[in-house]
Amino acid sequence: MKHWLSFLLIAGVAWGAEYRAGSAKVDITPKELIWLSGYASRNKPAEGTLQPLYAKALAIQDKKGARVVMVTTDLIGLSRTITDTVAARLGKEHGIERGRVVFNSSHTHTGPVIRANLTTMYNLSPEMDAKVAAYTRQLTEDLFTVASAALGQMKPANLKYVEGTAGFAINRREAASGGVKIGTNPKGPVDHTVPVLVVSGEDGRPMAILFGYACHNTTLTGEHYKYSGDYAGFAQAELEEATGATALFMILCGADQNPNPRSSEKLARDHGHELAEGVKAAMAKPGTAVKGNVRGAYQSIKLNFKPHTREDFEKEAQSPDRFRVNRAKAMLKAYDEGAPVRTTPYPVQAVRIGNAMTMVALGGEVVIDYSIRIKREYPREKFFVAGYSNDVMSYIPSVRILREGGYEADSSMIYYGQPGPYSEDVEESIMGSVKGVLKRVGVK
Ligand SMILES: [Zn+2]
Repeated sequence: MKHWLSFLLIAGVAWGAEYRAGSAKVDITPKELIWLSGYASRNKPAEGTLQPLYAKALAIQDKKGARVVMVTTDLIGLSRTITDTVAARLGKEHGIERGRVVFNSSHTHTGPVIRANLTTMYNLSPEMDAKVAAYTRQLTEDLFTVASAALGQMKPANLKYVEGTAGFAINRREAASGGVKIGTNPKGPVDHTVPVLVVSGEDGRPMAILFGYACHNTTLTGEHYKYSGDYAGFAQAELEEATGATALFMILCGADQNPNPRSSEKLARDHGHELAEGVKAAMAKPGTAVKGNVRGAYQSIKLNFKPHTREDFEKEAQSPDRFRVNRAKAMLKAYDEGAPVRTTPYPVQAVRIGNAMTMVALGGEVVIDYSIRIKREYPREKFFVAGYSNDVMSYIPSVRILREGGYEADSSMIYYGQPGPYSEDVEESIMGSVKGVLKRVGVK
């Protein structure tokens, strides 16, 4: 039997394919009408389905048998409890290391609440909370299933990396009297690049398309109550329809970027169409053929919060704002238990596919400054710099944004149940770790 296996592996090489690859998708639309996540203004559960939600996986194996798996989801933000559970099971049953499995969530705001993300945003009834818990359990199972399916059906494949553009993301940090508000800032930094990894079968036809964009997946505002993947969902559906391939969307560092304009179903479809057109135009270009080993590296670091005292939260507990009261209660409980929250664990990952494409996968809602800085510091690399990967515990501001203040720096921490803003070493801590994982996958 062993001889047959090695014969087949050699045959795979002889066919002229550089890699083996497999993709799979599973429908994860809740069967029940669950509370939708993302907007604090939600006041009732979902009312139906505009478009199904999916979890998808793309597995790639090099000539030496080393593998990586990318798992993407039409969801608000996967928590570490989910991704650690799925990754551990993939390690046990498929022998794949943690550093070689990437999880990304598209940050659609028309998907269900899942555990444990945005913990203090909703005061759910015990019945709704039980539905959320049941959905989260099923989701954990589904993510393992979809990754296993991709790993289990790999075929000879060739890869190319290409870049396109889409112009609908706008910087949303608008200067206002007394600080920064969420609006539009046409002069603020953006990154309109659409990185695309095209996986083709031996017949030359695409079997999977992995693409990314740095923009909040929030064309549909808080008055929309039907499940959907927002612009990213429409872009994926259009690409799958046009090519027959599995289209997987990864959200990049779009935490301070919004679709512009926004708020209607038509605009979500229009932005999805623009993004799909950007991907198709890129695919028509020759691009860079990807060749060589696949590698992955993962590190969990700790990010420091700005110092706080028990008195800060005793005061906040008296606030008329129920979100602040929820946060204050959680923080006082931690003080009572003798373990005030001073740091949060933070996942940093790099995956390099051959000589041509590198993925940096960062946890949390990462602002565009990180993408711009990483690309500037490694000008020769072709990057997917993804946020919302492996865990979403808070916004991740740069030092610049931390100093300017506003939602991404400060007030969003209330909804995430975190004690307050990060300390100013946040950017250097993350960049130090990024450099470390990049070195481990061979990027200098
Ligand atoms: Zn967000």
